[in-house]
Formats: sequence, structure tokens, C-alpha cells
Amino acid sequence: MSPMLLADGLLVFLAACVALDLAKRLEMKLSTDTLGWLVGSALALACGLWGAQVLGLSHLKLPYAVGYPAALTFLVWLAAVAFMAAGMALAGRPRRPLDTLTGSAVLAAGVVLTELGFVQALSPSPGIVWAWWGPGLAFPSAWAGSALALWLFTGGQRRVSSAAPAWRALSALVLAVSVVGPQSLVLASAGLARQTGMPLDGRIASGTIEALASVGSLLLLVMLLVVSYLDSRMKASLQSARAELQSQSLRDPLTELPNRQIFEGMLAQAFQRADATQAKLGLLLINLDGFKGINETLGHRIGDRLLREVASRLRALAQPHMVARQGADEFLVLIPNDADPRVAAELASSILVSLGKPCLLDGREASVTCSIGIALYPDDGGASALIAHADAAMRFAKSSGGAAYCFFESRMVDGFRDQAEVLRDLRRALALGELELFYQPKIHAPTGEITGAEALMRWQHPRRGMISPVEFIPLAERFGLISQLGNWLIDEVCRQIRAWRDTGLRMRVAINLSVHQLRQPDLVERIAKALHANEINPSLLTCEITETVAMEDTETTIRVFHQLAKLGVSISIDDFGTGHSSLSYLRKLPASELKIDRSFVLDLETSEDARKVASAVINLAKSLDLKVVAEGVETEGQNRILREFGCDQLQGYLFAKPMSARALALWAMDDVGPRTMNFRDSLFKATRPAEP
Ligand code: C2E
Ligand code: CA
Ligand code: CA
Repeated sequence: MSPMLLADGLLVFLAACVALDLAKRLEMKLSTDTLGWLVGSALALACGLWGAQVLGLSHLKLPYAVGYPAALTFLVWLAAVAFMAAGMALAGRPRRPLDTLTGSAVLAAGVVLTELGFVQALSPSPGIVWAWWGPGLAFPSAWAGSALALWLFTGGQRRVSSAAPAWRALSALVLAVSVVGPQSLVLASAGLARQTGMPLDGRIASGTIEALASVGSLLLLVMLLVVSYLDSRMKASLQSARAELQSQSLRDPLTELPNRQIFEGMLAQAFQRADATQAKLGLLLINLDGFKGINETLGHRIGDRLLREVASRLRALAQPHMVARQGADEFLVLIPNDADPRVAAELASSILVSLGKPCLLDGREASVTCSIGIALYPDDGGASALIAHADAAMRFAKSSGGAAYCFFESRMVDGFRDQAEVLRDLRRALALGELELFYQPKIHAPTGEITGAEALMRWQHPRRGMISPVEFIPLAERFGLISQLGNWLIDEVCRQIRAWRDTGLRMRVAINLSVHQLRQPDLVERIAKALHANEINPSLLTCEITETVAMEDTETTIRVFHQLAKLGVSISIDDFGTGHSSLSYLRKLPASELKIDRSFVLDLETSEDARKVASAVINLAKSLDLKVVAEGVETEGQNRILREFGCDQLQGYLFAKPMSARALALWAMDDVGPRTMNFRDSLFKATRPAEP
């Protein structure tokens, strides 16, 4: 092959590389971006055609000087751009199998016709008489070649991204051959050597054009480099953003250990590998003994530091195995292969020894012991049961005094099968929409009017009947279903508030949030989204969080509380009196309401102590500028005492049991309810939608 032909081919190959690199961005939908890529791609190809034509011509070494008429040549070049654009538009993102064929036919026609045009533009004398075989053979070969090239290109686009560049390069090579070959055929069939000369007045000399063509090829090369540089930069920044996002949402913010979600993902992979290699897995579930006491006596800041210290000791000990934080004071370690009982027991005892060593936290010495449950896969159960079985073993260790490890045995889960079944059904219930929210009215004590309601979850099990949230919420919390349940609750409540609004009832609703939900990184965002989607003013929503939860995970709680308050949602401390609140801490929380626990209300009439507690709580709340709600009011006596104490709101069976949303609406609208009671006027006023 002559060096000139090789140079020709190289030039078109380069042009095709640029063109295809731009064409890979074409989308099905027509947009300005797609149009831009298409034009860029067509320009690159047309430049290639033109450059190759000039090189091919200079290769002929004619016995006379040649020159191009500028206007005519430009027109032919424009036609080339149009053909290339039409061809790429059809075949660059084929919708039907025929598109590759028609697109490549247009490209081939472009190659042959523009070559004919370029040669004709030379207008030599006495004039060209084309030999039939030139265009006649050039067209089918250009068609076949470009069809193959485009087929390779679109096929490559569908492959994994690392293989696509190789396919594009191959396609560019085929395209180059299918341009240069037919061009040479057309040029040869023109018989330019037989001509005697051509007019040169006002023409661009071929030398100038050749120089332009070389500069053009250089530009093409630069364009290619720039495009691929931009490409790789965009990819790198996308990748790092994705990795950052993922690691943020999958890490526990306090200890920076992977959270349960990522652990479950790794566990699933480990199960697959273990099945394939017949290896055994070991799972250790570690729960600190008496951590609550430490939190209460030494304060939450120290508690948090202790958890961090425990996490770092575990990480060091368990190397190279994976450690995760499963919940408040609970950790998981996975031994991914060759986990015989001896290895697991050795690791467990070294964890017991290491965690038992005292550590210095803020100048104070603290030490904890822990209980460890061990379950082995596959001996102690399948993939779905392993964590639960490690948990059962841990409880066994704890109930026998703690500071010990224990292997799983099947007798530990008598009655567990029942739980597992409930859990499975709960998953299904969530998917099938078997859960429902009931609403219990809250009464304004001074006037006796209904001012709002608390949403309470209900589960009508098809076989077991009504299952109480007291039973299924803790189960959902232990087995990682609570976020899903909570998300459903948020959406459902907001939907209901909107539905009531549309019938003229402006109901304030309180929802219960569990500690696991507070740790959910997107909780506040979800609530904001649901409020916004339903155009609900955030002041209509209250989040109830139990006192024990509010005091448990201090840093997280304070952060989430402030985010919620900023959103405009009210915060209520539920079951107040059962935990050990510190006053100074309580003052820091942006809460607006305390709910006295039902146990104090229950004994009001019979116990002087209960009365003292209730009145103290009400006075405390008033001094902190918080509203007080008493829940579980069942008798007229309790009602009277609470009103005398100055309680702001009352809730209980005396006024109304939790009821369906429909029943509550009927009661509000038509006065068909358990008691004659008024709904507060403001409940029927218009509400402003949430700020965007
Ligand atoms: P809670 O937040 O303290 O809810 C009050 C519970 O007291 C409700 O029980 C309610 O039906 C009951 N109650 C109300 N008035 C009276 C009364 O006069 N006498 C008596 N004996 N009981 C009364 P329920 O609906 O069974 O809910 C129990 C607990 O389940 C709730 O306690 C709450 O902690 C949890 N829960 C319910 N729904 C949800 C939910 O959607 N999310 C979360 N995270 N927890 C929920
Ligand atoms: Ca509540
Ligand atoms: Ca409560």
C-alpha cells in the first residue's frame, strides 16, 4: 500500500474517531445537546472526506496545476456535512434494525456523491467522462463498509463501558477503509491524467488547500484529545461523587463503622461465596452490658465516646473481618470463611478481654462488659435467620449474667419461629397495604374541644386478627423493618391530612417516631418532601419521640430535633416520666410538648404519689414553656384532677378510642361520634400550604 494511501486512511480514521466519540452522546430524544453532537460529528466526518480527497488528488501527480473554485467546493463540502449528519442521525442511535442499513446508505451516498462533486469542481478540460465502474463499485462498497462500521459502533455502545472504546476504534477503522477505498475508485475512474489542463484564475491553489487540510487534521487530533480529556474528567468526578454519597449514607455517623444496611449487603455476598465454596461463616453479635446505666450516670457525651472507643477496639481486634454497628450499643462481626467454632470462640474471648479493659474518657475511667452471641452458617440456620439466631444466643449470654459468649442452640428460639412468621407476614402486609392508621383525638382541656389527633398504626392480620403495635413495632425495630414502616407512615399521614383538608377539616396530626428512624439519614428530607408534595403547612404535624429515645442517642437526637424544628414541625416528648431526663438537656431540645405517661394517669385517683408526679411534671413543663398532654385518661375523676392541675390537652378512652380516618371525619362533619364534643373552630379554617 502506498504511503499516501496510508496517510489518507489515517486521516479519515482520525476524523471517524472524533465523529464516533461525539456520536456516542446522541440520545433517542431530540434535544439541543443531541443536535450539537450530531453537527459536530458530521463536521468531523466531512472534514475527513475533504482532507482525504485533497491528499488523494495530490497523490495523482498530474502533469498540470490544479486549483479549486472556492464557492463550488464549499457547497460540495456543505452537502457532505448534510449527508453525514443525516446518516448519523438515522444510524447513530438506531430504533429499528433497518436504521443501520438506511443510515449507512445515506453515508455511502454522501461519500460517493461528494467525491464526484469535488472532482467535478476541478472542471478540467476537455471534460471528464466517468468510467461506469467508478461510482458503480464505489457505492456498494462504501455502503457495505459503513453498515459494518455502524453496526460495530452501536453494538459497542451497548456493551460494558470499558469495552466500548475498543469497539469504537474498530468501527472507525472500518469506516476509514470504506471511505478511502471508494474515494480512490471514483478518482481513478475520472481519468484526470487524460485531461490537458484546467482554468486557474481565481482558484485556490491545491498547495494552499493541502496546507489547510494538514492544519485541519491537526485540529481534529486536538479535538479528539480534548473530547476524551473532558470525558475522563467528567467520569472521574461523577464516580467520586457517587462513592462519597454512598459511603455517607452507609456509615454510622457516630462510630464511622458500616451500618446494618451495608452489613446485610456484605452478608448476602458472603452467603453466596460460602455456598459456592462450601465454606462456613461465623457471625458474632456483641451487645454491651449495662450501657444504659453508663449513659445515665456518666452522661451521654461520655456514652458516645465509649461507643466510639468500643468501635475502634473491635475494628482492631476483628481485622481483617468486617465489623458493623447494628444499633444503639450493638455490633456485628462477620468471619467470612473457615469459621470453625474454635476460631469464633477465640475471637469472642479476645473481644471480651479487650472491651473489659477500662478506658479513660474525659478524665473519667469507664469500663464495660459485653454479651456475645455466635451463630455459624450453615449449621445454625439459613441466610434469613443467622442474625436472629446470633441475637438469641446473645440474649442467652446476657440472661445468664453477661460478660460471656454463647453459641446458638435451637432451644434458645422456642417461640421464635412464631416471631419469624410474624416478621415475614409484616413484610407482606407492608407490600400489600394491610396496615392502617387509626387516629385518636386530642382534647383541649380548658374548652373540651378536639384540637388534633395522634396517628396509631393498626395491623389487621388475615389469620391472627388485630395485632397490636406494641407487638409488631419492636419486632420491626429489631429486624430492620422500621424505616420502611416509618416511611409508609409519613406518606400515609400526609396523604390523610391532605384528604381531610380537601373535605374542609384542618386536622393537626401527631406521629410516633422510633429511635431507628431518628438515625435514618434522610428522615427530615422525607418528611419535608411528603409535606410539600401534599401542600401541607408543617405546623400541622407533630413528631412524638419517647423520653427514653430522646435521651438515648444525644448527638443524633439534638441534630435531628433541630432539623425538624427548622422545618416547622412540632416536637413532643412522649411517655414522659418513664425515663431519666436531665433538666438541662431537656431545655436544649426544641420540643414544644410533654406527654405525661399513662402509668401516672392511671393511679391519679388512688395514689398521692401519682398526683404529686403529675402535678410536678405539669409545673416543670410550664416553667420550661412546654405544653402538657396527659394520655390514657379513662375516668371522669382523672379528667377532673388533670384539669385542676392545669394540663393543656387530654387524650384517652374517656373521650375517644383510636378510630379510622373516615370515622373521625364523619364525627367532625356530622357529629356522629362517641360523645357530644365540639371540634375546635380553627380546625375548619383554611390552611396555608407548605413553603416550597
Ligand atoms: P403511645 O405513643 O404511648 O400511644 C398511646 C397508646 O395508648 C395507644 O396504644 C393508644 O391506643 C393507647 N391509649 C390511648 N388512650 C388510652 C386509654 O384511655 N386507656 C388505655 N389503656 N390505652 C389508651 P397503641 O395504639 O396500642 O400503641 C401503642 C404504642 O405503639 C404507642 O404508644 C407507640 O409507642 C407505638 N406506636 C403506635 N403507632 C406507631 C407508629 O406509627 N410508629 C411508631 N414508631 N410507634 C407506634
Ligand atoms: Ca405517642
Ligand atoms: Ca405515649
